[in-house]
Amino acid sequence: MSQVLDPELRRALTERIRFYHELNIYDFYRRGSPATAEQTATAEAYSPSPPPPELREEMAARKSAAVAPVAEENIFARATPKPEQGVSDPTAALQLIREDLGDCARCKLHKQGRKQIVFGVGNARAELMFVGEGPGADEDAQGEPFVGRAGQLLNNMIKAMGIRREDVYIANVVKCRPPGNRTPERDECDTCSPFLMRQIAVIKPKVVVALGAVSAKNLLAINAPMSELRGRFYDFMPAGTHGSDPSWPGAKLAVTYHPAFLLRDPRQKGEAWKDLQMVMKYLGLEPPKKAAP
Ligand code: SF4
Repeated sequence: MSQVLDPELRRALTERIRFYHELNIYDFYRRGSPATAEQTATAEAYSPSPPPPELREEMAARKSAAVAPVAEENIFARATPKPEQGVSDPTAALQLIREDLGDCARCKLHKQGRKQIVFGVGNARAELMFVGEGPGADEDAQGEPFVGRAGQLLNNMIKAMGIRREDVYIANVVKCRPPGNRTPERDECDTCSPFLMRQIAVIKPKVVVALGAVSAKNLLAINAPMSELRGRFYDFMPAGTHGSDPSWPGAKLAVTYHPAFLLRDPRQKGEAWKDLQMVMKYLGLEPPKKAAP
């Protein structure tokens, strides 16, 4: 098949693919039956598969953004009931997820110096959840997310919202410390995040705040800079849990800066405060008398 497409045809195909995406159609198949030369020529002219290289990235991003819960999920894992399913007490359900995680060795982070798994902490019935990237040295040592300097700042941010750390639930995309505090890699996030998704599905928060770009990109499966991710709510349903609880319509997801970034660039605290004020307004939290953290 020729790799060179007429620009006009390429534009038409791009529009057609966008149209299908808006209809939530992402997978395209070609017939496997023998074809005549004429049919082959027609199929080559109109089949959108494979797309030209410059379109692949955009298609992949859009595809994962909208269908990650289905497309990236192991179909057998999906068919297997999770131990927490049907457990109405979220504390007990979280405990079952923790037991299912066990002494996890599912990704390479288990053998890269972690002291312990950092599962998550807080109110199992929280209306508000914060999700960071991964544990750092303090978190790895104490087994609790956001306990170092960044954790102190997060505590101040939560306090400034008029609530307490115990009122919210805090977790990370990956549960083991990446060596040297490096950014968790794609395969590590993909392997670990289903457990986070199950935690979110059990807690059923009204709002999830993604702390930093790594968290936002993993939760939303959107590859975009922080400047584009912040300042709005996204409708969020944890991957793999669609329709599992008809009484929970999903959460609103907001994106703000990671506290560790705010420690490095305190000038951005005002921007983060704007993000939190948006969340407070949605949750009906009273703005505290004192302003920014
Ligand atoms: S990061 Fe997650 S998937 Fe990887 S070993 Fe730790 S708990 Fe398991």
